[in-house]
Amino acid sequence: MTTTQLDRKISEEERLNELYNYKILDTGPDEALDELTEIASALCGTNISLISLIDHDRQYFKSRKGLNVTETPRNISFCTHAIQEPDELFIVNDAKADLRFKDNPLVTSNPHIRFYAGAPLISKNGYALGTLCVIDQQPSHLNESQKKALKKLAKQASRILEFHKQERYLRESRIQINEQSKLIKEIVFTLAHDLKSPITSTSSLLEILKEDYKKTLDEKALQYINYALQSNHKVLHLIEETLEFAKTGVDENSFTSINTEECVKSAIQLYKSEIQKNKVDIKFENLPTVESIEIPLNIVFRNLISNAIKYRHPNRDLIINITAEQLDNYWKFNVIDNGIGIDKKNFEHIFKLFRRLHNDDKGIGMGLALCKKIVLSLGGKIWVKSTIDKGSQFSFTIPKI
Ligand code: ADP
Repeated sequence: MTTTQLDRKISEEERLNELYNYKILDTGPDEALDELTEIASALCGTNISLISLIDHDRQYFKSRKGLNVTETPRNISFCTHAIQEPDELFIVNDAKADLRFKDNPLVTSNPHIRFYAGAPLISKNGYALGTLCVIDQQPSHLNESQKKALKKLAKQASRILEFHKQERYLRESRIQINEQSKLIKEIVFTLAHDLKSPITSTSSLLEILKEDYKKTLDEKALQYINYALQSNHKVLHLIEETLEFAKTGVDENSFTSINTEECVKSAIQLYKSEIQKNKVDIKFENLPTVESIEIPLNIVFRNLISNAIKYRHPNRDLIINITAEQLDNYWKFNVIDNGIGIDKKNFEHIFKLFRRLHNDDKGIGMGLALCKKIVLSLGGKIWVKSTIDKGSQFSFTIPKI
């Protein structure tokens, strides 16, 4: 085999691989492509028009107008010639007068081809997958504007094929991701669940110990018991958050209309005693109704409001402003506080799991990681702007549907 023959063989192998990546062979009719073959026929005045994909030893007609068969052998196909020059139209004005085709069974018998014009369908990576072709039983020709339009229609057909490929890829990836995350969720859920009961019983035992022996235990022993109880409490909180973390996920069926003002009100209700005790002023008005998933969205508002309360400035009353802005394709929500603020270098850091900036027991560093996971899975973004000692603004977007 010469180098050129070898090259041709390799590139045909690559071309076929590219075609198989589209997973489009034998997939039946497609409305958008059928419309294109219809237009091509009308444009060129022919009674047959095809979208033909060149497989190893056949041409498969993904769309066909004026022809009953779904495939013909490759060795007699006109389109095989057409894909040799991917940038050009391949035109045979009269097949009976053309030495290459006059004895071709497609010319001598059904469908009695006399005129053929094929525009190659080029993949994103530059391979000719097949053609959009027009065929007639009479000799014919195309004028310049018909040639141009046929090429443009072929481009359009290639775009539709590419769109279907991307759509299928997305569908398959989503199924794969869903399966993986289901498995991970199950593991996390089981682990967290199994951990909960021994921790709860240890806490109960410690409480009994503290109560029943408070007269006999000295101050230090009681203090140690309290430390142990506090640690248990933290672990239980961690487990609760982990269970919540594992439960969240986007299921297309759970999208509903949500009045975000109600989300804010229910978060406020949850932290009512903290808010009253610390004279927190929470302002919000005209928050929109959005199409989203209620439980995760509630968790985001709850976490951002609870953080604003937890990280308030010790020397001033806390004011929290919750606002919403309408962008082109998104709603943007802002939770703004006048708390202790965050150093710029930690803006990214705080959204990672178990990252905390303060050595206190106000939290476990899971809230913002959970918020980020939720907002991303709802199709939005979350970020913070803040100045130390002045306050923070947490913003997140969710798509308008
Ligand atoms: P947690 O509050 O449980 O520690 P988060 O993930 O909610 O965990 O927050 C991570 C860290 O980000 C917090 O420990 C805190 O240091 C900082 N942080 C979050 N929100 C605020 C805020 N509104 N003001 C100042 N610091 C904040």
